[in-house]
Amino acid sequence: MYLTNGEELHKIILNAPIGICILKGKDLVYELVNPAYQRILPGRKLLNRRIFEAFPELANTQIEEAMRHVFETGIPYEVNNLLIPVAEYEGGQTRNRYFTFSFQAWRNGNIEIDGIVNTVHEVTENIKVQNDLRDAREMADQQKRVYETITSGTPDLMYVWDLNYRFTYANAALLTMWGKTWETAIGKGLRENGYEEWHAAMHEREIDQVRATKTTVRGEVSFPHAILGKRIYDYILIPVLNEAGEVEAVAGTTRDVTERKQMESALAQSSEELQAINEEMVATNEEQAASNEELLATNQQLANLNEELLAARQKIEESETTLRLAIDAANFGTWFIHSVTREFITDARLKELFGYYPQQELSIEQALAQITDEYREFVTNKLENAIYNGGDYDVTYPVIGLHDKRLRWLRAIGNLKVDPSGAFSAFTGVVMDVTEQHMDEQRKNDFIGMVSHELKTPLTSLTAIVQLSNSKLKHSEDAFLAGAMDKAHLQVKRMTNMINGFLNVSRLESAKLMIQKTSFNLEDLIDEVIQENAATMSSHVVKFERCQPVLVNADYDKIGSVITNLISNAVKYSPEQKEIVVKCEVTGNEAHVSVQDWGMGLTSGDKEKVFDRYYRVESNNTQHIAGFGIGLYLSAEIVRGHGGEIWVQSESGVGSTFYFSLPLKT
Ligand code: ADP
Repeated sequence: MYLTNGEELHKIILNAPIGICILKGKDLVYELVNPAYQRILPGRKLLNRRIFEAFPELANTQIEEAMRHVFETGIPYEVNNLLIPVAEYEGGQTRNRYFTFSFQAWRNGNIEIDGIVNTVHEVTENIKVQNDLRDAREMADQQKRVYETITSGTPDLMYVWDLNYRFTYANAALLTMWGKTWETAIGKGLRENGYEEWHAAMHEREIDQVRATKTTVRGEVSFPHAILGKRIYDYILIPVLNEAGEVEAVAGTTRDVTERKQMESALAQSSEELQAINEEMVATNEEQAASNEELLATNQQLANLNEELLAARQKIEESETTLRLAIDAANFGTWFIHSVTREFITDARLKELFGYYPQQELSIEQALAQITDEYREFVTNKLENAIYNGGDYDVTYPVIGLHDKRLRWLRAIGNLKVDPSGAFSAFTGVVMDVTEQHMDEQRKNDFIGMVSHELKTPLTSLTAIVQLSNSKLKHSEDAFLAGAMDKAHLQVKRMTNMINGFLNVSRLESAKLMIQKTSFNLEDLIDEVIQENAATMSSHVVKFERCQPVLVNADYDKIGSVITNLISNAVKYSPEQKEIVVKCEVTGNEAHVSVQDWGMGLTSGDKEKVFDRYYRVESNNTQHIAGFGIGLYLSAEIVRGHGGEIWVQSESGVGSTFYFSLPLKT
């Protein structure tokens, strides 16, 4: 600075609106302080004082350093808006103040630096305003950032309208949806931002409504989205009130609820479906319950059945045990024959009965080999017939034991059972040792045979004598004698028949019943029998219905005894009825002879047994009729010995017809 006039300069300095001071010498002593400078530090004594004493706040600051530098170099220094905490009064509390300083060298006579001219201008207020402004801006920015952060982080659309329906705020999501920037969208109305007329008009009406009512409006709107298709939006418009409580803007939030709606309707649908399923389940449950009940009932039945089965099984087991015990007690042997494989399973007792050791193998053939020669063929035939034709099997035969060589009479009874599979039959049965009974029987037979034989000799002479006496006395004067001899003859004949019967039985038992066949006409035999027995059957009328001559080849006497037996039985067992009918017929290649009566008849049970040896019907009707039960037995054996059959048709209380058949002579 070049000062031309000292006076003038002094004046300028004093009147200057900014603070100016002149500091002199190395110590920088205030030489001149204008009023503006003094106003900066009111009440502080400055003149003639060193600057850093009078204004110590500058000491040790960049100002002190700068001032010394100016003093030494003459290079001016300027600093703006420097913060200096300044004491309110000397030694008092400090207040932050901002100053703009400039320092220039003061040259003595323009050569030497003798001091510094310092201008100072306080800018505290400006800085404050500036700071406030900056703070306000920063705050606004910060707030905006917060809002931005909040609003941009949400997919919801957020916006604010002023009362002229212009957007004053739109969040990132809305701007993105519009495809616009803040600058191009804010301050614009609805239509300018692409809203269709109906949509814009609707929101404008709503803005009016919010403004008028100061209450929120809620709504739902649906419109197509370019990419996502039809979308549904739910929105809420809220009044923004100023300090006076008036509506100054309307803030809105819109949320895309398409998914929610879809989920809701899907939920509703699935709820319906669930309901339907539920109903079905209920129905199914009911059905299930019903079938459960049925199952329970069936279960119960099954349980009952099971119990019955168990009981039945127990019974079977019991009876099996009993049977086994009975078999063991009776000392029976048992066997099983497989009809297809002819497998032969026996127990130890059976082997023992055939003279085998218990562990030894025994085949059917080996068993049959032990049977005596006379019986072997008979038993073999019976057995084969039983296994393959289901014939009856109850045979008694003698065997010679393999090892012990003992003669045993065995009775075997068998039963054929078809296996449930139908593939084979099981022929099972028991064998018992009947040697003792057989011997008893034998002895009895022998005795009967012997007695009969012994009786027969005197009886034959007696018959001859009675016959002779009878013919002599026939014409006797003595009626009693004549009659008595007649009766004696009758009784002797009866007796002869009886003894012949016993003899025949005994012969039959010892297999000595010989059949001597001759050819004869059956009708002649029947005639003769009727004639011969006429005297003993005088109580009845025997009618013979002949047909034609019937030639047979048979034992004349034995068939005669069969016919005699049938006719005499008819007489014996029909005491009330007189008539007896004898018939002889030819059927095929057989002769059939029948003897019919209308007497007491037979029950079905008795019909099967009357041909058994010694069998007699025991009833009130028969108890007074004499007999031994051997007539029909003998007859049956004789007929069967001829290859014929014998049978009876009878009804109790009605009458009987006995038949026998014989093969015709060929
Ligand atoms: P019996 O010597 O007892 O007559 P039979 O062998 O001749 O022996 O007959 C056996 C049994 O059959 C008789 O006891 C009798 O009960 C019965 N019987 C035989 N013939 C007749 C018949 N014509 N009517 C009713 N029962 C009969």
